[in-house]
Amino acid sequence: MDFLNWPFFEDHHRKLAAGLESWCVAQLGHVDHDDVDASCKKLVRQLGEGGWLNYTVDQGRGIDTRAICLLRETLARHDGLADFAFAMQGLGSGAISLVGAPEQRARYLPKVAAGEWLAAFALSEPEAGSDVAAMRCAATAEGDGYVLNGEKTWISNGGIADFYVVFARSGEAPGSRGISAFVVDADTPGFEIAERIDVVAAHPLARLRFSNCRISAAQRLGNAGEGFKLAMRTLDIFRTSVAAAALGFARRAQAEALAHAKSRAMFGATLSSLPLAQAKLAEMACDVDSAALLVYRAAWARDQGRTVTKEAAMAKLVATEGAQRVVDAAVQMFGGRGVRRGEIVESLYREVRALRIYEGASEVQQLIIGRELLK
Ligand SMILES: Cc1cc2nc3c(=O)[nH]c(=O)nc-3n(C[C@H](O)[C@H](O)[C@H](O)COP(=O)(O)OP(=O)(O)OC[C@H]3O[C@@H](n4cnc5c(N)ncnc54)[C@H](O)[C@@H]3O)c2cc1C
Repeated sequence: MDFLNWPFFEDHHRKLAAGLESWCVAQLGHVDHDDVDASCKKLVRQLGEGGWLNYTVDQGRGIDTRAICLLRETLARHDGLADFAFAMQGLGSGAISLVGAPEQRARYLPKVAAGEWLAAFALSEPEAGSDVAAMRCAATAEGDGYVLNGEKTWISNGGIADFYVVFARSGEAPGSRGISAFVVDADTPGFEIAERIDVVAAHPLARLRFSNCRISAAQRLGNAGEGFKLAMRTLDIFRTSVAAAALGFARRAQAEALAHAKSRAMFGATLSSLPLAQAKLAEMACDVDSAALLVYRAAWARDQGRTVTKEAAMAKLVATEGAQRVVDAAVQMFGGRGVRRGEIVESLYREVRALRIYEGASEVQQLIIGRELLK
């Protein structure tokens, strides 16, 4: 935990990280990854009771990016689903924190922070992932509200969320300027779960369908036509935290690999005595530290009120790509045990993969960095 002495942090951050570490050891226990719906609901309740979800919503002072990153890094190091449950409360309610009207904030944010309601963020569509502005899901103004028609896919917490922040084409202008955001309660008539999606590391995930789903104008978040900007602002907050989660996975893999290398007897000594193994451990350490430096630089800069488009993209690119390398190297060091179900490095290998794809694939981060450099 030496990195906590870096100048990016304040004392309350150091206390927070130590507090969550103790909480994880004492309270988290074994997380069942076979029944992810039940586990996520339980985790959200536990995290709410522990007070940790207070950091996922704006309670008047904005969002403390360094706190969010430290919490995600710590949770990911202990359990990927615990990190996921925490992260989705923030991502799913982020637009309400940013632009919610007082009634919207009062209705949703306390329940999110208490772990009583689960949140989801519905942006991607079958034909619009990286190319968000190609979205087709329509919000047609009718009477004193809107009618939603279309689909969203890959939606985390889909099927178990109590509400969904949905981005849909409201038609004020072509392309990205004709999109608005809405908060849709899960029991709204016309809304349904079209399909549950099974992925390499199980998480609650679904394709959503809206069929003449009527919502009142009071469910719109922010101004009409400004939904795309709002989605990007929400992702800007949480992009650095995806990098922090990757860092947590990498740190766990590094720790597992180090312990294994020191204890595995081989060629009359231990794996750790072999120069090639030491070189691998050195590469892992460089990947971990370079990710950590970029994550906490971006988080610190955002907390200073700076725009961190480039810094957050660099953190996400380097941390997720680096975590993949670190986890892969750890699996390799474990030999056959590395691919055996039930081994920590085997589950990390499955957990880490999607982070290079969601909230902007690595190629999208490269484009963002390139564009910012050329400005
Ligand atoms: C586990 C998981 C959870 C998710 N949770 C959510 C969620 O909660 N809410 C939500 O809205 N979405 C969510 N997503 C969707 C995610 O954001 C999209 O999968 C992602 O944006 C990529 O979109 P796509 O899958 O349509 O791939 P595509 O857009 O078809 O892209 C495919 C690949 O093309 C490459 N690529 C992209 N752009 C470029 C480029 N400019 N140049 C070169 N190559 C490029 C990348 O390698 C990319 O992976 C989730 C996805 C996963 C896997």
